[in-house]
Amino acid sequence: MDGYKRLLDYNERWVRERLRENPGYFSRLKDDQTPEYVWIGCSDSRVPAEVVTGCEPGDLFVHRNVANLVIHTDLNLLTVLNYAVDQLKVRHVIVCGHYGCGGVRAAMSSRSQGPLNRWLRNIKDIYEKHQVELDALPDFEARFRRLVELNVVEQVRDLAKTSLIQRAWHDERRPWLHGWVYDIHTGRLKELTLLTHEHEVDEIHRYDFSGEA
Ligand SMILES: [Zn+2]
Repeated sequence: MDGYKRLLDYNERWVRERLRENPGYFSRLKDDQTPEYVWIGCSDSRVPAEVVTGCEPGDLFVHRNVANLVIHTDLNLLTVLNYAVDQLKVRHVIVCGHYGCGGVRAAMSSRSQGPLNRWLRNIKDIYEKHQVELDALPDFEARFRRLVELNVVEQVRDLAKTSLIQRAWHDERRPWLHGWVYDIHTGRLKELTLLTHEHEVDEIHRYDFSGEA
């Protein structure tokens, strides 16, 4: 039960180590943050954002949920995104999924998951949208890996459908929207998609800001 103490012990050693290398390590961050990146990742413990990207405190503004979903009615996500894009002026938003994602696997099952069903429904919709491609794959593992990738690509597209991102693209030509997938077996990140202000959003999702002050 007291295994948790290793976390606190590690923290003591980590602080000492950082201060030995750089006495100003913590004081440099005490007044403000200017992260360059937003990370929208899965809650899975095997995908630690800072560890796999070599980021330090102050580098990443992080939102994590089950299966790294961008849901338009998720006030938590929207608050993170709004603050990061409008106030912190981040240059990159990264959606990072991962092979072996339990959320994606659960969405592929017909078993009822209770309250999780509503969350996983979003992934089921992506499966349905890409059903022809997915069903043509040889086995479950191949479909599973491809759905993980398609899920990331669709979340990035969903980011581009927000007026928040479109306004920032219109006014400041940022941020770039990245879709990555992480392989928990190799530790490697792979780029899947990149959308910039030059991306043509589908007409029905496109906002016109010319009439605003
Ligand atoms: Zn996951």
